[in-house]
Amino acid sequence: MFYTQFPNTDIQSSMLGFGCMRLPVKDGKIDEKEAIRMIRHAIDSGVTYIDTAYPYHGGESEIVVGKALQDGYREKVTLATKLPCWNVHKHEDMMAILDEQLQKLQTDHIDFYLMHAMNGERLEEMQKYDYKSFLDEALAQGKIRYPAFSFHDGYDAFMRILNDYDWKMCQVQMNILDDENQCTLEGIRQAGKKGVGVVIMEPLRGGLLANPPEDVVAAYAQYQDQRSPVEWAFRYLYTMPEVKCILSGMSNWEQLVDNLNIFDLEGQPELNEDEKALYVKVKDTYIARTKTRCTGCRYCQPCPMGVAIPHIFQNYDTSMLRAQGSYKDGYAKVIADERDASRCVQCGQCEAACPQHLPIIRYLQEIHEECK
Ligand code: SF4
Ligand code: SF4
Repeated sequence: MFYTQFPNTDIQSSMLGFGCMRLPVKDGKIDEKEAIRMIRHAIDSGVTYIDTAYPYHGGESEIVVGKALQDGYREKVTLATKLPCWNVHKHEDMMAILDEQLQKLQTDHIDFYLMHAMNGERLEEMQKYDYKSFLDEALAQGKIRYPAFSFHDGYDAFMRILNDYDWKMCQVQMNILDDENQCTLEGIRQAGKKGVGVVIMEPLRGGLLANPPEDVVAAYAQYQDQRSPVEWAFRYLYTMPEVKCILSGMSNWEQLVDNLNIFDLEGQPELNEDEKALYVKVKDTYIARTKTRCTGCRYCQPCPMGVAIPHIFQNYDTSMLRAQGSYKDGYAKVIADERDASRCVQCGQCEAACPQHLPIIRYLQEIHEECK
């Protein structure tokens, strides 16, 4: 395992963090015994960062993490959890939720306390509830050690949030395929410049990068060193100097052991030129499988006929990135919701609004023919 220093904090962290959003499940509930065994084995093996959140596993994750961190384990880790901003309806709700979380986690303080799933709209809402004075108060009372946020939106919103408060950490989605999406690589650079440590979520894009299609496997195989797709996906991230921790949502013992092996390095490596070229090739190979390359900006919405253009395009493309990609099942749901492409009357409004100049009407027709 190798360790990093979060800037402007006293937190040293293992690069691998245990994300507790996909703990092992038995009979529809967290397999508590196995989850605790895995979390403690990770800590015994050098993992020092544990991430959970109020809604994970329907509220059960925080309780199980609290149990796992008994018997001296709490003191060994940096504990992160998140305020469910969508449950906040007045200022006082924030402290009440934090107090409930402290109780569930059986601790008197949270190390990184994140505003969960921030985006441009949510920032304005939380400003309305004066989230800054809540964080100031929680810090002064010692209930939280460092304020942070997790993020899902575009670059502009990311910069607005980043500059709105004295954050010590931000948790963002990044992986080989998302360098121009969400906060973007530039957002990560800006956070680094500002002295805000970056924690990565979705390093495998929901597991998609763990099972690549044959052409991507072939691209990896051409490189002189043989690594698994999972190791390549993590390597892309842990070589970024701004990145201080990568969260992996480990669901079974095998994944845990595999991840521990991948992060068994002396220190934070740098990518050489050949590796950088390989990542460009891998990304191009993935992207060549997609059709629309819709960015999800939603400028084409609303369609007067209710066609779910960005939803259809983005889910179609994501399906094509998979080894045995098919969007038929996903599209059946869009048809059932009466938001499918057959409703299009070719008014052209969406194409005039699309900044990517996508031939939306043609793409809709083609996807409908293929997937209906
Ligand atoms: S062209 Fe079709 S999809 Fe586009 S806005 Fe008009 S009806 Fe909607
Ligand atoms: S405007 Fe174009 S790029 Fe943006 S969501 Fe619609 S189709 Fe996608």
